[in-house]
Amino acid sequence: MSNTPIRKVVIVGGGTAGWISAAALTKLLPSTISVTLIESDSIGTVGVGEATIPQIRRLNAMLGLDENTFLKATYGTFKLGIEFSNWGQIGDSYIHTFGDVGLNLANLQFHQYWLKARSLGLTKNLWDFSLHKQAIDQNKFGRLDHIGQTSMTGLSYAFHFDAGLYSAHLRQHAEKNGTTRIEGLIQDTLLDETTGNIKCVKLQNGEIIEGDFFIDCSGFRGLLIEKSLGIGYQDWSKWLPCNRAIAIPSERTSTLLPYTKSIAQSAGWQWRIPLQHRTGNGHVYSGEFLDDDVALNTLLSNLDGEPLGDPNHLKFSTGRRDAFWHKNCVAIGLSSGFMEPLESTSIHLIQSNISRLIELFPSNTQEDTNIREYNRQVSEEFELIRDFLILHYHQTQREDSEFWRYCKHMQIPDTLKDKMDLFSQSGRLYKKSEDLFKESSWVQVMIGQGLIPDTYHPMADRLSNEQVSKFISDIQSIISQAIAPLPDHDTFIQNHCAADLQ
Ligand SMILES: Cc1cc2nc3c(=O)[nH]c(=O)nc-3n(C[C@H](O)[C@H](O)[C@H](O)COP(=O)(O)OP(=O)(O)OC[C@H]3O[C@@H](n4cnc5c(N)ncnc54)[C@H](O)[C@@H]3O)c2cc1C
Repeated sequence: MSNTPIRKVVIVGGGTAGWISAAALTKLLPSTISVTLIESDSIGTVGVGEATIPQIRRLNAMLGLDENTFLKATYGTFKLGIEFSNWGQIGDSYIHTFGDVGLNLANLQFHQYWLKARSLGLTKNLWDFSLHKQAIDQNKFGRLDHIGQTSMTGLSYAFHFDAGLYSAHLRQHAEKNGTTRIEGLIQDTLLDETTGNIKCVKLQNGEIIEGDFFIDCSGFRGLLIEKSLGIGYQDWSKWLPCNRAIAIPSERTSTLLPYTKSIAQSAGWQWRIPLQHRTGNGHVYSGEFLDDDVALNTLLSNLDGEPLGDPNHLKFSTGRRDAFWHKNCVAIGLSSGFMEPLESTSIHLIQSNISRLIELFPSNTQEDTNIREYNRQVSEEFELIRDFLILHYHQTQREDSEFWRYCKHMQIPDTLKDKMDLFSQSGRLYKKSEDLFKESSWVQVMIGQGLIPDTYHPMADRLSNEQVSKFISDIQSIISQAIAPLPDHDTFIQNHCAADLQ
């Protein structure tokens, strides 16, 4: 960056990443900084990315989006978690819910009391004490912040939505706040010979768009960060071996489920995302272990409604950029890396990275420390999410296909190994500052996939055996009472945010 003030930000790409960035920047940066977004209809967007995690509510609130209006506009539904079937072993199923299970007591996590009760003969599973799981089982939903007069938190939720409609909705907001949109195909990027910064991009029609700061939201192409600035990519496929996906919509089901389904297959997994007008489906798999036509057949034979439209075939490499911010360019969205959609983390990374960028936004001088700090934080967040995803593949008892044997026996990063070892002994976990996932998420996936600690924390013995039994059975009845008055998910949608489907 030269010593000139930053007056013009240029965003390359108008997918979810581009429009979230534009909406956030125009909302939060001073009006002296203009925002221009360039997108090309001839290229289009990746067209997937329909399941989210609860952090998206913070983004919506920050952008000033009204939740019901947004859901109506995007044909959205509510999401309380993800059901994982056949992951630990075939026939298994558990839910990674968005809420805490039970109630932490006296500085000790609930699962420690559950482990103690289990050692005394309790046969109930962990999710018998989950508000979210009980709501899911009864297909209920409501905006419940708290459980009655208790300190137990209510339903933490995210959304499923139509990706194209979401981008369009954000575009409306971003343009209203002053983003200038340019439709055009970028053919070239010119660098400043002295600084190496990006000076401008050149469109197919010859138009030159100059900028002081560029955001690369060009998707897997990495038009600026890779093609112009030459930043490399760390390939994580030895740990996250899925590298292909096929997506296809199908007719909506009569009941709208308030959760995503993730069904493990022989060399990957299949998603089902319930929307108001259709179900989103996809098969994520490893091309090294499965042929494309077999993958397509598996997907088509596992739809729960008639297919609508043609399958969309996608290829990717799991991993991340060596640097996310280089010179006067930040990569946000798929251009920054992709770790596969298993836990719906990509849209979250867009939002967390645009928030970081705004916090570290440079003024008019070369501010290397901002760049270093940004890259440090984003790398850490990527790596912690990576470990969480690897856990799903590695913590399995499945040996029924070459793919699962590979996953079960692969070498995993030391960071994950240490975490699993610590948990398997006495159920202990520590959250690092950039970790997106709370302890309760790690606990649910570890226990859900069969990693049950050998013993419990000695602090659980501060409650006598009788007190532990009473504590956990009280929790169960409090949860049942809280769920009883909630409406079912469909009714809630009909009453608050039904799309106009004619
Ligand atoms: C199979 C799959 C499933 C996924 N599921 C989820 C999910 O459930 N939840 C989740 O959070 N995320 C998911 N993701 C990720 C999610 O789709 C992306 O994070 C999100 O859509 C953002 O994409 P993007 O905007 O970075 O890229 P894109 O949508 O690809 O947009 C790229 C933009 O750049 C423009 N562009 C590119 N080249 C040029 C050029 N030369 N000139 C002009 N414009 C150009 C394009 O026109 C387009 O507007 C999934 C991804 C995949 C592959």
